[in-house]
Amino acid sequence: MGLTDAIFNHPRLGYYGEYGGAFIPEILRTTLDELTQVFEDARRDSSFWTEFEQVMRTYSCRPTPITLLENLSREVGGARIFLKREDLNHTGAHKVNNVMGQGLLVRRMGKSRVIAETGAGQHGVATATMAARLGLECTIYMGAVDVERQRPNVFWMEQLGAEVVPVTDGSATLKDAINESLRDWAYSMADTHYVLGTACGPHPFPQIVAYFQRIIGEESRQQLLDSVGRLPDRVYACVGGGSNATGLFLGFLDDAAVELVGVEAGGRGLETGDHASRLAGLVGTPGVAQGYKTFFFQDAEGQMRHTHSVAAGLDYIGVSPILAHLAEIGRVRIEAATDQEVIEALKRMMRSEGIIGALESTHALAGALREVGAMTPDQVVLIGLSGRGDKDIFTIADALEDENWQRFLADKAARS
Ligand SMILES: *Cc1c(COP(=O)(O)O)cnc(C)c1O
Repeated sequence: MGLTDAIFNHPRLGYYGEYGGAFIPEILRTTLDELTQVFEDARRDSSFWTEFEQVMRTYSCRPTPITLLENLSREVGGARIFLKREDLNHTGAHKVNNVMGQGLLVRRMGKSRVIAETGAGQHGVATATMAARLGLECTIYMGAVDVERQRPNVFWMEQLGAEVVPVTDGSATLKDAINESLRDWAYSMADTHYVLGTACGPHPFPQIVAYFQRIIGEESRQQLLDSVGRLPDRVYACVGGGSNATGLFLGFLDDAAVELVGVEAGGRGLETGDHASRLAGLVGTPGVAQGYKTFFFQDAEGQMRHTHSVAAGLDYIGVSPILAHLAEIGRVRIEAATDQEVIEALKRMMRSEGIIGALESTHALAGALREVGAMTPDQVVLIGLSGRGDKDIFTIADALEDENWQRFLADKAARS
């Protein structure tokens, strides 16, 4: 059995090696069983994938192109570097692939409402967008602290017709919003679907998210074959929860000669403890939380540790059980890039290629830039650019200590 086949037809249901599973309250069992069944039917129905592709083509600019970074490749002097442009999707990132796909499943289930939780707000905006398009009611749970930090995203979710509920329990951040979403779902599951944002959580979510996100890898594979006539030597993707990485890697999983590299958030450096890595350097440890088994960034007692990254979308304690497994068997190599390296890589790509990547995505670029110089010009590297960086303007301006920007903010504060 090939690796891809093992992910979609796993011998032990819901498990990827030791990782995955569904550790859930009994009350959610029936609804997860129903979701598993609807998803099984959908993926065995070839018209479903055709419908999904059609929606993505007409609503989200798919297939997204691959771009050869001619200038950067020349400057670095190693392999030819290609970018998979998920930043050109509607709503600016790969998240819409998963969200629209789940929306189509909601239709098949005949449900009328969706809920989601969001930290940085990107998944909330994508879900609110899908709900507006498909005519579904939408509630987004968000930690009260994150609501304050992510005002622009909250504004757009509300304009798109979603109700945004600030959660004040605990630390009032993502994990508290997850708890609140589960509480809602336990009462509302008859008419409500919980749109999980990444390839994590209890079975069947990792599988569903991987299934829709594999469109990134499948397109990339074909595009490289068409334009350069060969597969890449190496593929890089950033790893938060792991959905864009899993999706991109799935296009190449059974091509043993293609090396797959996931890049986690190294924050201020793995040695400082101030980061959001789990698999890199094995700084995380296996455990069960939030309904599934994987590597978590936790202490010896199983208490989740505080994560830090310049990229809000990588700031998560768990990681996809699919990637945990692929890393363990050595199919995927996991590295980490620091905040500083990411800012440098971002500047470099803006200046040499005119592309503003999301801070999350730029982790993949930073990881690649460290290594491609040692490769040769006949080699090919593919980097997943999971999203665009417009949303990061405040963080980037801050990190670059841009004086004019700081004056602009000070003037604005003085006027109000
Ligand atoms: C949310 C997000 C990520 C992290 O999520 P994954 O599930 O790891 O892909 C990465 N890049 C962008 C642009 C995002 O918005």
